[in-house]
Amino acid sequence: MASTTDTLTRDKLYIGGEWVEPDGTGMIDVINPTTEEVVGSIPEGTAEDADRAVRAARTAFDSWAALSPYERARYCEAIGAQLTERGDELGALITSELGMPIGLSRMIQAGLPPLAFSSMPELVEEVAWEEEVGNSLVVREPAGVVAAITPWNYPLNQIALKVAPAMTAGCTVVVKPSEVAPLNAFVLAEACEAVGLPAGVFNLVTGYGPVVGEAIVSHPQTDMISFTGSTRAGRRVSELAAARVKPVAVELGGKSPNVILDDADLEKAVTHGVGKCFLNSGQTCSALTRMLVPRERLDAAEQIAAAVAEAYTPGDPLVDGSAMGPLVSDVQRERVRGYIEKGKQEGAKLVTGGSQPPDGLEQGYFVRPTVFSQVTTDMTIAQEEIFGPVLAIMPYDDEEDAIRIANDSEYGLAGGVWSADEERAKKMAARIRTGQVEINGGTWNPMAPFGGFKQSGHGREAGRFGLEEFLVTKSMQL
Ligand code: NAD
Repeated sequence: MASTTDTLTRDKLYIGGEWVEPDGTGMIDVINPTTEEVVGSIPEGTAEDADRAVRAARTAFDSWAALSPYERARYCEAIGAQLTERGDELGALITSELGMPIGLSRMIQAGLPPLAFSSMPELVEEVAWEEEVGNSLVVREPAGVVAAITPWNYPLNQIALKVAPAMTAGCTVVVKPSEVAPLNAFVLAEACEAVGLPAGVFNLVTGYGPVVGEAIVSHPQTDMISFTGSTRAGRRVSELAAARVKPVAVELGGKSPNVILDDADLEKAVTHGVGKCFLNSGQTCSALTRMLVPRERLDAAEQIAAAVAEAYTPGDPLVDGSAMGPLVSDVQRERVRGYIEKGKQEGAKLVTGGSQPPDGLEQGYFVRPTVFSQVTTDMTIAQEEIFGPVLAIMPYDDEEDAIRIANDSEYGLAGGVWSADEERAKKMAARIRTGQVEINGGTWNPMAPFGGFKQSGHGREAGRFGLEEFLVTKSMQL
């Protein structure tokens, strides 16, 4: 299969407005999951690098915070324009790091980050920067120096959803991107440089979570942590931040239910639901991975799901129109295969797919699109986040049973409800304990708050709510 880009060696970090030599000599290889070849390499940052970056952000803070929100938002808008200009390059780059089909990568991975930046001038208008409460003037101030730690699955967008609002709020940032898909973050640093962003407002340090991530979280001069990733790492970051009572916004994993009510258009609901489970090879935090179906419609749902899943032929993500690429890494592929085996062992019905490699794909971290049915809440595949193209269909007896199953999860990130009666669907949505619920496939809204309940986290990203996350409130008594 073809490579998208020549090997990229990024041997400098972006700190204090300059490309600087890292403290150590270690490098981390970035692997193309389609070809299993090295596509680039990045510095393996150290605690020293993290310290330098936090100090640069601290130094830049006062003068950056002194600009008006609108001036800061203008810088973001300019960064957004730079990213738009480099959209094709970014789409291809992220496909080479992650394996998402190129068409989707251009639209989602390269398309969303510019929007996060360019929406800032408009969002500034929506925030109550000052208001009067009795004899008090209540003002919203920046949280300070922000540590932004991000995952690999929507790599640049996860960074953009933190950096754009944090900078607009008046914060300065140190970004630690995922070591699995980090190359795109260097393009963002170049965009910050190209627009003349004041030195130290945006800093990039690459490396491993337990080293660079923990160093920026624990640093005495970091004021706030914004973390997106697994619940396991989010817990660790929260513990470290608690030692200095720092605010933490965490966006974590999910195991999201999609409740199809008995009056829904089954064909439409199941078809859409399979797509919502398989997007990005199932590596989406808000993927609708548990499909709840009335018991009497189970057979029909299985047949529809099998037909849809079998049409998701995995293949080269560079071929235009391809629907499913590989998983991001060998580790991820083995995890997913392990869950498929576990599903079979625990008695779920394998409708289609399985743990064996897809036909004709000896190279690349591919997995068969897989559908299980007759899944019950006590099974591992009903409880744990698989992060692969594996759907669990779960039968229910009545609406109360559906609610019980939907909420029987330690996660609470997303959900779906399907019904011919929108009022009925809204009532059901109100009882699902998750941060967002789509009704009848309601289109994703990039300006609506996104975040979790329970162990899916407690931050909110995107739109006005995402901007307010980086503000603290002060009252002045007059
Ligand atoms: P991960 O937790 O392994 O890594 C995320 C980031 O945290 C990486 O940059 C990593 O280097 C860093 N990290 C790891 N251990 C750390 C530590 N001890 N201290 C500080 N930083 C540390 O997650 P991942 O595999 O990159 O991403 C997949 C996970 O992210 C899934 O669970 C997915 O659901 C979740 N996710 C959530 C959202 C959301 O908005 N809720 C969005 C995307 C992904």
